Amino acid sequence: MRRLSIVLLACVLSFAAAAPAAALPTLPDPATAPVDGDVVRGFDPPELDWLPGHRGVDLAVAPGAVVRAAASGTVTFAGSIAGRGVIVVSHGSVRTTYEPVAPTTAVGQRVTVGSPLGSVQAGHAGCPAEACLHWGLREGEEYLDPLLMLTAQVSEVRLLPAGSRELTAGRIRERATGPAVSPRTGAALLSPVTGPVTSPFGMRVDPITGTWRLHSGTDFGAPCGSPIRAAAAGVVRSVAWHPSYGNRLVLEHGQTGGSRLTTAYNHATGYIVEPGRRVAAGQVIGSVGTTGDSTGCHLHFMVYADDRLADPMEYLTRQ
Ligand SMILES: [Zn+2]
Ligand SMILES: [Zn+2]
Repeated sequence: MRRLSIVLLACVLSFAAAAPAAALPTLPDPATAPVDGDVVRGFDPPELDWLPGHRGVDLAVAPGAVVRAAASGTVTFAGSIAGRGVIVVSHGSVRTTYEPVAPTTAVGQRVTVGSPLGSVQAGHAGCPAEACLHWGLREGEEYLDPLLMLTAQVSEVRLLPAGSRELTAGRIRERATGPAVSPRTGAALLSPVTGPVTSPFGMRVDPITGTWRLHSGTDFGAPCGSPIRAAAAGVVRSVAWHPSYGNRLVLEHGQTGGSRLTTAYNHATGYIVEPGRRVAAGQVIGSVGTTGDSTGCHLHFMVYADDRLADPMEYLTRQ
């Protein structure tokens, strides 16, 4: 039995090591929100292709509102699908979609960021307002959260004067995922669990070994089974067992607020996303547990800035 466990563990570890290092999608820059409206329905892709879900975000607007190109590109579709107007703009490796929209552009037309594409029509299914623009982002066959396009620009958004269109983009982002940025680092990580900080980052007496050492992250107390959420949009780099950290998941977020951020989630009961999978900010990725060296149910949350261990509290938007 013991031999079998060792073989199984070896399989798990070799699988984790063999997982491809996923890269963040190359998103067009600069980008802007296509309309001045609040996010009234977020991105909620289904686990399996044929299940219902929401493969974009809905922005509430008045019918007839002008839709702008979220980034520079080429119009690759402008017409009607099942009775609703749809526009698709290609930006190289990704494309943005807009519906329901009456197009004022034609296929093949080059558009620059912010240039008009058409006007919003009423009637998008599930829209709680008078009209909604359904804004989508796709890479190949995969659906991505279009708000990713705005997240990458947070540090720029902050510096612009009031009243500019980019601030509108910032406001949309704020409605969707919380306050814009941490005042100290310019980063915008969300709290990964709902619960109090039970032990901060820094030097402390280790509760397991009794020695004075660095506590490498922030502990959030929460009952086992509570949802763990991605602190920011990113790609799952690894999901593996660690003798001290227990069930550990590492997320890569790319360049955020001036540094390349990586977050790690430890001691979980388990995770529901695999290596290579893209996740949106706030998406549930697993559940709180007490695996590895742990004295009770909690999340040990770690932040690396440019591969160096950092105090997570300096990167969270809510403190
Ligand atoms: Zn929608
Ligand atoms: Zn800890």
